[in-house]
Amino acid sequence: MSAKPKAPARSAARRPLFVECDDCGHAWVAAFLPLAMADLARILDGVRCAHCEGRKISALPTEKEIDQ
Ligand SMILES: [Zn+2]
Repeated sequence: MSAKPKAPARSAARRPLFVECDDCGHAWVAAFLPLAMADLARILDGVRCAHCEGRKISALPTEKEIDQ
């Protein structure tokens, strides 16, 4: 009997969406893809930087950053 809670299929299918604060450069994961465009727009619209509470947020191209 295994009681370890795991969800490998779901976790693997979801990719983190990294965003960066234009003001202080702090980067973090704002959401996980894939995500509906409406939900993504709402999240990015309301997101704030945890360091400076800045609202100027840019999404980072994570695939290129990681691969190269
Ligand atoms: Zn910031």
